[in-house]
This record gives sequence, C-alpha cells and structure tokens, in this order.
Amino acid sequence: MTYRGRFAPSPTGPLHFGSLVSALTSWLDARAQRGAWLVRVEDIDGPRTVPGAAEDILATLERFGMRADETPVWQSQRMARYQHALEQLKSTGLVYPCGCTRKEIADSLLHAHARNTTLAYPGTCRTGLHGKPARAWRLRVPDGEPAVITFDDRWQGPQTQNLATEVGDFVLRRADDQWAYQLAVVVDDADAGITHIVRGEDLMDSTARQIYLQRCLGVATPEYLHVPVVTNEHGEKLSKQNGATALDSDKPLEALGAAARHLGLKLGSEPPTTLEQFYSAATAAWAKRMNIRASR
Ligand code: GLU
Repeated sequence: MTYRGRFAPSPTGPLHFGSLVSALTSWLDARAQRGAWLVRVEDIDGPRTVPGAAEDILATLERFGMRADETPVWQSQRMARYQHALEQLKSTGLVYPCGCTRKEIADSLLHAHARNTTLAYPGTCRTGLHGKPARAWRLRVPDGEPAVITFDDRWQGPQTQNLATEVGDFVLRRADDQWAYQLAVVVDDADAGITHIVRGEDLMDSTARQIYLQRCLGVATPEYLHVPVVTNEHGEKLSKQNGATALDSDKPLEALGAAARHLGLKLGSEPPTTLEQFYSAATAAWAKRMNIRASR
C-alpha cells in the first residue's frame, strides 16, 4: 500500500499553533512512511470561511517548509461529488429528509435528558415529515449491535462509539443548504485515496460516523491517528474562534520546535538551525515514537 496522508484546514483564520501541530504531525507521519502528503482546503462552511484565510494558510505552510505533493484540493469546487454521494445514499434508502428545527430537537433531547436516556437525535422524521417542510437530510444509523463502531487509533488506542445511542441519525446536508463536514470529508478522503488520517483529537468523536459513512458508500476505511489538542490556559482547545494568535512566519523554527515538544519528540541536544535539520531530526524522532521502520 502506498501511504497517502493529508492536512485539511478550515480557512476560518490564519494558521495558529494548534493547527500547526496537526499539520506537522500529518507531515511527519507521511515523511516517516515515505508517503505523499496532500492539503485540502475545507471551505464549504460558507458562514465560517474567512476570505483570504486559505491563501494565508497555504503560504504559511510553504514558509514553514511543508509543501504538498499534489495541488491542493478546495472543497468548494467539489459540490457535485457531495451531491452524487447523497444521491447514491438516497438510492439505498439510507437517507431521509428531516423537518425538525433545532429547537424541536433540543426540546426532545431535554426531555430525554430529564429521563436520563439518550441525547442522540431521536429519529423523529424517520417515519416521515409529519407535515413539516424538509430542512435537512439525515443518514439512518443501524439499531442494536451494528451501531457499535470500533477502531484502533494509532495514538489513543482502541475506540468504541455506539452511533444509535450516542449520535443518532446524523445530518449530511444541513438546513442552511450547506454540505455537512461528515459527508464532505469522507467523499474527499476516498476520492484522494487517503490511507492515513492524522488530525486533532477534537475530531475523534466524528470518526465513528465517518467509518459508518465509508461503509455505506462502499469505500475503504483509512488508519486513524488523533493527536492531543493544544489548549489555552483555561484548558480550552486553541482555535481561531477563541483568539489563538497567528504564527510568526518569520520564526518558523521556534514554532516548529514548540510543536515537536507538544508531541513529546526529542530532537537531540543541538537545536536545529535550518528547516531541513529540523524536519530530518523530527521525522526520525516521530518514526521512533510511532515504531515506524525506516526501511519502509
Ligand atoms: N477541517 C477540519 C478542521 O480544520 C479538519 C478535518 C479533518 O482533518 O478531518 O478542524
């Protein structure tokens, strides 16, 4: 198998330290396994996309010495592929239109919570729209044992999620006419032939949904590795939304060194003075940390 990995930033602001850690980890893993490293701009969430942020992120990656092996893919140019996947799922009867408003779902979940039962989408529209207009499209998840999805995360170990009790039928096309992240990411990774997904731990909770979707669409499931996210002093995930500062493009080695430390990588006694030195030491340290044999 030829390794194909990727970094998939959402252009909601400039690259910050948290996203640098994800970028670097996916880069090191691809390099250590002599694979290809691709970049995908996840710009389908119209309301959250900041004009110019994607170009800024791509320029920063370049500046930091991480160059994609193929031309970056932009999700906004792939709408027809998402539509095609939805049609495929419609033809199998696995998706249905949902007319529930956020408030209706929240209310029913509140009742469920009071009864101390599930917080998953209760499946109200599984049996029809009950006279309401269609707002979103949902994917039906199985009941019982087939709803339990397991996978072995390369960093975090064995994971299990019961889609029926923990998630419920989930949205593929949102009420605001946007494609849901879950659908887009699965279609894109499959089309790009991605074999290894390396990303932040905050996306761990989405992985079971993505594996289920891969099965529904008949595409392969890649290997997963979720790296611990960087948090601020309040223990919150560092994100563009909570004011993480942009990286100083003039000092890539400083930020990269800090990112390597976050990953627990030991780069030797002499601090690297060039990007080349940094990547060579960091790739070797990552290969050692992950037990990747250099001869591959
Ligand atoms: N676009 C997502 C983010 O920036 C990452 C998606 C993924 O790696 O699967 O959080």
